[in-house]
Amino acid sequence: MVRYGAHAMVWVKDWTADEAATAVKAASAAGYDTIEIPIFDPQLVDLAQTRDLLRQYALTPTVSLGLSADTDISSADASISRAGVDRMVAIVDATAAIGGSIVAGVIASAWQKYAVPPTAANYNNSVAGLREVAQEARTRGVTLAIEVVNRFESNLINTAADALRFVDRIGEDNARIHLDSFHMHIEEPDAALAISLCGPRLAYVHINENHRGYLGTGSIDFRRIFLALAQAGYEGTIAFEAFSGATASPSTAGKAAIWRSVYEDADDVGRRALAFMQQGMELAERTVRLAGGRKP
Ligand code: MN
Repeated sequence: MVRYGAHAMVWVKDWTADEAATAVKAASAAGYDTIEIPIFDPQLVDLAQTRDLLRQYALTPTVSLGLSADTDISSADASISRAGVDRMVAIVDATAAIGGSIVAGVIASAWQKYAVPPTAANYNNSVAGLREVAQEARTRGVTLAIEVVNRFESNLINTAADALRFVDRIGEDNARIHLDSFHMHIEEPDAALAISLCGPRLAYVHINENHRGYLGTGSIDFRRIFLALAQAGYEGTIAFEAFSGATASPSTAGKAAIWRSVYEDADDVGRRALAFMQQGMELAERTVRLAGGRKP
């Protein structure tokens, strides 16, 4: 069964105790199964409060982050790459502590625009670093979902094909792939083909519109994306991600270039997104069956 999630930043800027309560209540009221929690530094989060809130509202967490320049696991500087490994292991620990099993996001490099392409040292340090993190994560029941993001947000993995080569190099079955409709719309020749190529190595999916606002009000062909997920028999989480100038944190706004307010009413955009994703997947499952495809 597919689970439906929403990024906390649909509702709140950060994950303080008050914001955690607001976002968990809102996601639960909207009908989601999962809330995606941005944790960049576990020491700044009250993990016990988060765990208790999630239990109270019966929500499963996904943890997501983008590494920073000083924890860039792909750095050619061994001490910076090591800081990235250490930060990722701390994030994995925090994820397990709140009852989660997936760490997603920009975790193969820093989350930033690079001015140069990656070197062999960058690539190899990221592979070796994430292999070590994945081995630690396995002992805690956690899977790494490496997000494929567009060229303006990383230089290392911009397409599903890049990601497949990368996770093959890591060689750990809990180091898998996270695809995002917004990034695929920019970089992939065909988003549905990208999903098919990933197959069982797809661990997490972000659904967002090309302008990051209300689903169905932009130019992404979600029908093909849902069809590809249904045909692949995807059974992970499909998470709504949206960012508006009204609710994005200053840090995330800077990284993801969120300058405009594309929605004001967070509860409305969240509720409508869940209905859009559920209906899209239901129609896709029917379409696959009608076409004589995969048996559910
Ligand atoms: Mn995303």
